[in-house]
Amino acid sequence: MTFALNGIGASKGIAIGRIRLLERGRAEVAERAIAPEEVNDEVGRFRRAVRRARTELERLGRRVASGDATDVSAFIDTHLLMLQDASITSAPVRIIRERRCNAEWALKLQRDALVSVFDAMEDAYLRSRRDDVDHVVDRVQRILLGTEGEASARAKRLAGRVVLVDDLTPADTLLMQHQGVVAFVTQYGGPNSHAAILARSLRIPAVVGLHDGFRLLADDELVVVDGRQGVVMASPKPAVLRHFRARRLEIARIRSTRSRLRRAPAVTRDGEAVHLHANVELPADALTARKEGATGVGLYRTEYLFMNRAVPPDEEEQYAAYCEMISVLRGAPITIRTLDIGADKQLDGAKAAAPATLNPALGLRAIRLCLKEQNLFLPQLRAILRASARGPVRLMLPMISGVAELMQTLEMIERCRGELVARGQPFDPSLPIGVMIEVPAAAICADLFARHVDFMSIGTNDLIQYTIAIDRVDDEVNYLYDPLHPAVLRLVSGTIEAGRKAGIPVAMCGEMAGDARYTRLLLGLGLQEFSVHPGALLEVKQAIVECDTHEARRLARRLVRAGRVETRDAVLEALNRGMAA
Ligand code: PEP
Ligand code: MG
Repeated sequence: MTFALNGIGASKGIAIGRIRLLERGRAEVAERAIAPEEVNDEVGRFRRAVRRARTELERLGRRVASGDATDVSAFIDTHLLMLQDASITSAPVRIIRERRCNAEWALKLQRDALVSVFDAMEDAYLRSRRDDVDHVVDRVQRILLGTEGEASARAKRLAGRVVLVDDLTPADTLLMQHQGVVAFVTQYGGPNSHAAILARSLRIPAVVGLHDGFRLLADDELVVVDGRQGVVMASPKPAVLRHFRARRLEIARIRSTRSRLRRAPAVTRDGEAVHLHANVELPADALTARKEGATGVGLYRTEYLFMNRAVPPDEEEQYAAYCEMISVLRGAPITIRTLDIGADKQLDGAKAAAPATLNPALGLRAIRLCLKEQNLFLPQLRAILRASARGPVRLMLPMISGVAELMQTLEMIERCRGELVARGQPFDPSLPIGVMIEVPAAAICADLFARHVDFMSIGTNDLIQYTIAIDRVDDEVNYLYDPLHPAVLRLVSGTIEAGRKAGIPVAMCGEMAGDARYTRLLLGLGLQEFSVHPGALLEVKQAIVECDTHEARRLARRLVRAGRVETRDAVLEALNRGMAA
């Protein structure tokens, strides 16, 4: 009997294949006491395991380097960095010596301490980085336990298979891709999990958060995975199969047509030029963005630089990183967002866990944290200012909720300018400064902010979370996530309007901007600057070049006014009519 299971679409595309259930399970370890004279041997065993884990990853990295899966390289680089970090390499050694316990147990204790720090973070992206800790620790544990061969053995005979797993390590994902896996389905995790990001980068369809998969699906059962809708159809009837096969052919045809758009300008049918920028975390992402035809970076999430290390990068290191990004972009503009983390504890990851906050998303985050921890913020502001002498940079402030907060930040920037003048270091005196509009209070008062800044950028990921009151990392309330909620649309359109009246540009860098279903709507609301994940650039560009903004404006106005879900769905359909899906 055909039945459908719903998860969350994480990587678009359709795959048909027999499912392989892979219960991964974390390596089981127990404490074992070590005699004083065995301690050095145990430390040696641990160090050899870490070295071997590094060699394996380096080998994997070399295999990837020849391809263009830049996200994959980034994951591997991150894991290699972690395997050099004292929190992984030295802290367990200390535990082995102090506790006189086996290496596996010492590593487990250290893993638990690190994970509790990540769990206390409110930023979804950073919190997802706890997976990195688990993946790296698991790799070393399997070497210590001598079970590392199992994972690769499991990955064998997977050609043409859909795999169902609890979660995936990036390395396993990559191995499985080499083995010819056609789709990933995970039990847990949201669309920002590593498996999801990686699947998008590798263009393999993926559905995440399919809670009942292991209970309801049988090994070897034929399934269809629809990565856009987030659906897995089990035992599909011939008619269902025919439908999805035809759909798959259609998607392949559309993709190949789209690649011709790489060098085409992002101009609507009626001649409106649109800025189509990319969201990036690493120089490697910027390279992909450039190849895919982005004309700049609209959101550089600098928090990535601060992760997986005991000490935050100083001004010089940040300056070098920003300059590297600028040079990769070869003259294209870059919007550098100041640090957006939930708590300062990850900067000292090996120490005790942060006290859990009751509502972390509403807590000391992003600009709030930076204003409190000025030793963290000032070096970053100086580094960004200095980098502005090297290329077209904009500085962007996340999570601003009030004008007083903005004024305080502007004063700090002014102070940094004074310091650089005193040091004789150059910077762009007219460096554009902007705010992210991601708190409803800021959207409602966008006109007040617009008086003091050079641009605004709408962060819909947080704006939707705060407007509808749904935790963006909680898949139980994901069903309420709705970019078309009238409240969201009013805030978005009000912000664009406030920018227009003040004569400053308004961009959008949240995921809504990267979803081509909303491109015409956003153009109709007057948005002229989109910043999207590099993988979404061509699809959004296609929607732009096919759009007639006069028509889009008329329908967008109707959609904002529509109260009933049926009406707005009908208007959206009319807006997107004729668009390649
Ligand atoms: C957003 O909130 O929409 C955004 C782009 O910022 P982040 O996803 O990094 O919170
Ligand atoms: Mg945000």
